[in-house]
Amino acid sequence: MGKNIKLISPNGEKCEVEPGELPPTDDFVGPVAQSKVMFGCGHEGPEVYAMRLNGDTVYLTAEQMAGRELCGDCLTAAIAKATIRCALCGWRIHNDMSVALYELGDGFRDDATRVEFGEKTCVIGCPRCMPSEDFIVGIWSGGRFFSNEEVKNTLQEVAQAMGIEDGEDDPKKRGREDSGRAREKKGDC
Ligand SMILES: [Zn+2]
Ligand SMILES: [Zn+2]
Repeated sequence: MGKNIKLISPNGEKCEVEPGELPPTDDFVGPVAQSKVMFGCGHEGPEVYAMRLNGDTVYLTAEQMAGRELCGDCLTAAIAKATIRCALCGWRIHNDMSVALYELGDGFRDDATRVEFGEKTCVIGCPRCMPSEDFIVGIWSGGRFFSNEEVKNTLQEVAQAMGIEDGEDDPKKRGREDSGRAREKKGDC
């Protein structure tokens, strides 16, 4: 209680939230079979693994473990390197996942990932514990945070590079991108 967690909405407003109770993030990669095989990483490991990530458990044979390249330990390390954890609940945030931002303060995990957003230092939160999709402020991709605006601009650049019109035939509408940026505060927090 009284953790004073402040969520940043896409228009930069702050909104105080009370984190709800969520199941723990008990992700792991663990051996199932006793028989051992060699993996490409140079380690010998069990032939079958159970992998639990963000609440889903899958069973992987050695062949399915990155084409037998990575043993369970190395796969665990690779996953840890390729993902970050939600600052609030610890959920794994992987590539291209939508994220929320919280103003840096008390009540976050020690391994929270910090980013600068506007003038503020924030930490990254996952879609599981944000109050609604209205609080998606960007994505986590390629080891960094992209704001909604950056995502939009990138998509437009890609569309232009590919010669795809974005449905705006009217040249008068081309200045539209700027008007969205100056959107007034709505105060709906
Ligand atoms: Zn290994
Ligand atoms: Zn979370």
